[in-house]
Amino acid sequence: MMLRNQRIFLILFLCFGFFHESNFFAEEISSSVAERFGREIRKHWSTEIPLDESAIKQSGIRRLESKHLILYTDLSASKQIDELPELFDQLIPLLCDYFELNPQNYETFKVEGFLIGDFEKFKSGGAVRQVPNLRNGYALRCRIWVRNPDSEYYRRHLLLHEGVHAFMGYAFGFWGPPWYREGTAELLGTHRVENGYLTLASFPKSRNELSGWGRIDLIRDDFAKNHVRTINGIFDLESEDYDENTAYGWSWAFAAFCENHPRYRTAFRQTAWKLDGTPTDVAKRFLELLTQKIQNEPPQWNEQEIMNHLNNDWLDFVTNLNYGYDFERTKIDYDKNAQPVSTPETQFTIQADKGWQSSGIRLERAKTYRFTASGRFQLAEKPKIWYSEPNGITLRYYRDIPIGTLLATLIPDQEERSSAKEGTSGIGFSAPKRIGLGEVWTSDVSGELFFRINDFPSELSDNIGNVTVKITVLSETEYQ
Ligand SMILES: [Zn+2]
Repeated sequence: MMLRNQRIFLILFLCFGFFHESNFFAEEISSSVAERFGREIRKHWSTEIPLDESAIKQSGIRRLESKHLILYTDLSASKQIDELPELFDQLIPLLCDYFELNPQNYETFKVEGFLIGDFEKFKSGGAVRQVPNLRNGYALRCRIWVRNPDSEYYRRHLLLHEGVHAFMGYAFGFWGPPWYREGTAELLGTHRVENGYLTLASFPKSRNELSGWGRIDLIRDDFAKNHVRTINGIFDLESEDYDENTAYGWSWAFAAFCENHPRYRTAFRQTAWKLDGTPTDVAKRFLELLTQKIQNEPPQWNEQEIMNHLNNDWLDFVTNLNYGYDFERTKIDYDKNAQPVSTPETQFTIQADKGWQSSGIRLERAKTYRFTASGRFQLAEKPKIWYSEPNGITLRYYRDIPIGTLLATLIPDQEERSSAKEGTSGIGFSAPKRIGLGEVWTSDVSGELFFRINDFPSELSDNIGNVTVKITVLSETEYQ
């Protein structure tokens, strides 16, 4: 016991020496500083429990080896299994690219992996001595363990997921808090193999594409039960929450949202370069990276506005998350100069192939507006072309509203947020107001006005055309 304490003290002392010398905590966040820190941490890694290769072999476990992986498995020889080490070799340069690291520094990075069919067989030879409780997968320094799932896709997914953990631990010395650690491993583990080539961080186009994965379904189930996780709710996820796959689902969703959104991608990726500290420290660092980046770009949103946009964008994404989600067409641009209606009548054109679009108009509390919409647009191409007008087509519904219906909502001004009732029709992206061909609306709060045509988030690309809406401010006598 004494010996162990002394060793821990020595490690702490050495690490402190490094922090002190390099002034790590005060340095700018960069991949080279992160790697330098990773190298120092690795120096103090304890030696691996040696494997008894002959005992492992005697248990009927095969050994497959490639540049970056030695894979031990009791699964019979087949193309799907025997190609895994080569697939793993493709993972490493892709991770270097994602984290902006020099691949030459990882030429000798090598993982020992255990792909386990029958756990009992692995008990000899020291193969699973370090594994506490293997539900799906586990990673410790440069060793990873995966319980063989039924699906071919999910087998690769788990191997890549654990491979990401091993790589991050090796490169940076840290994995970060659960939301970041699992989010990144899930994001990068969600992959595609086409003609033998591996692509990471692919967004699933259909449920059948990734058999055994099901993250989107888990979130949609949670959403249907009103268990929506806010961004702070994602940051608050704890290790124990990952006993349920739902936590993996939410972590993946947040990582995928950031990865696919040009405003958030860089900050999310670069958070990997400094993962020390408490979960709150890392969350704060991610938000700081985000605000620094956006504040310096036109139209120079302030910190509060950036946070509001992030939360609104996330809620819109979670509300509509589905296979084939069209990130490009649903990206929301806010208008810093949104103005109240100053003329008796103003008009705005809404494109049918986009998500929420800012009208550049601020609706004012207690004023009454008349909306009149017109236009004809294409909503679907196959099996035949469907045309719609702003009152929609009652043959198909999305979120209980006919597709093609013109919707509006407003995002309350900062000072009005406390009086905006959540879930009120016309407040926030998740509770739109139906405008259809026309509507009279008196809002309880002031805010920026947005429009969109109701449609499935994966089916915007075949929409063509637009709707014009006229907005008139009514005097009291006109609407009473
Ligand atoms: Zn994991």
